[in-house]
Amino acid sequence: MKVLVVGSGGREHALAWRLGQSPKVSEIFIAPGNGGTRLEGINVPIKDDDLPGLVNFAKENKIDLVVAGPELPLVLGIKEALSKEGIPCFGPGAYAANLEGSKAFSKMVMRDAGVPTAPFKVFDEFDQAKAFVENKGAPIVVKADGLAAGKGVVVASTVEEAIEALDDMMVKREFGTAGERVVVEEALKGEEASFLAFCAGEDYALLPSAQDHKAVGEGDTGPNTGGMGAYSPAPILPREKYEETAELVIKPILKLLADRGEPFTGILYAGLMYTDDGPSVLEYNVRFGDPECQPLLMRLDTDIVEIMLACVENRLPEVEVKLKDETAICVVMAAGGYPASYGKGKEICGIEEAEKLEGVKVFQAGTKYTDGKTLTNGGRVLGVTALGADLGAAQKRAYEAVEKLSFEDAYFRRDIGDKGLKK
Ligand code: ATP
Repeated sequence: MKVLVVGSGGREHALAWRLGQSPKVSEIFIAPGNGGTRLEGINVPIKDDDLPGLVNFAKENKIDLVVAGPELPLVLGIKEALSKEGIPCFGPGAYAANLEGSKAFSKMVMRDAGVPTAPFKVFDEFDQAKAFVENKGAPIVVKADGLAAGKGVVVASTVEEAIEALDDMMVKREFGTAGERVVVEEALKGEEASFLAFCAGEDYALLPSAQDHKAVGEGDTGPNTGGMGAYSPAPILPREKYEETAELVIKPILKLLADRGEPFTGILYAGLMYTDDGPSVLEYNVRFGDPECQPLLMRLDTDIVEIMLACVENRLPEVEVKLKDETAICVVMAAGGYPASYGKGKEICGIEEAEKLEGVKVFQAGTKYTDGKTLTNGGRVLGVTALGADLGAAQKRAYEAVEKLSFEDAYFRRDIGDKGLKK
């Protein structure tokens, strides 16, 4: 069968790599892909938000399955657009994708489904939001309703900071229409973990827990990024807690969406905060996380195509989703300066040498391949991913691999995995 992966990050490289290992797959296309995905299939220059372009390509090339990597095409309705042509898409429809596309919608669904989440209020008027913040005091969290590439959340430690965030979003419109509406919520304290499941209607198959590292600096300091590294499992959410956690944060959402006639197909990702009162949902994503996808797919021990087909054909319980017992870790190598401005076009060396290490795979994100060279082409450049018998072994291997890789101004955190090792 022929598969089209939509997206261009490290997550999509990992998806294309895993899909390509299936005996069922004869051809893989990645739109638009990156310098690494070309090693797994054929890159096609169609952007992830160009729905007519993607649908046309899928139709003309008789694609059997489309896998949407990022949220944007899902929120824009790629599933419905493909469905009109009879092409299955792994991922939810636009209504369910709003769990990620609209934070106000997501919080209301959480409330209606009885999922633990921080108390919140939704505002369309700046003056009302400001008055609420002044009344509540700080710390307090301000979130732009719509998609803002991970930049639309401000955890304000003072009232002034919160009002500035409201002003940026609602008055200055820094995120365009995404900030016209905001969610203001209570600030929670605790450690974060990601919990993902393959879903088909009310059926789900759990993936092991993972932990991302959002802050750019070691010790979780500095501004937030798309993610500087991840590992799985996350000791804060051990295996014996998976089922009860799913009952709390996955099952009620799937049931509510199914009851509304909008059953969810794809990956449901719960971003959790472990407070003193237990887990609380910070956000839902409707796709794999990047970089959590990379270590999770290193551990996956069942043909991913079988799982995805079972999801789109609504027969998920027929498939056993198996995972390797090992730990996997991904260290992101970024361009110096990221998440602010950074340079591009630097030659990347050492990928083949790094991959010679046992259990190591280098997933490419912001890269492009030109004239026989792999060059940097984005903020997060590589996701150096390693499997190991335990977190310590996986971490050691990943950093050995990082040492073999180089490009000008490369930056990476040296403490990915340390939090888990301390537990
Ligand atoms: P991303 O796209 O990077 O996943 P996002 O823009 O969708 O992020 P959230 O995940 O909702 O936004 O929030 C980003 C980060 O802000 C969280 O990972 C968490 O660290 C912090 N955060 C969000 N809500 C709260 C809260 N109520 N209390 C404390 N911190 C919070």
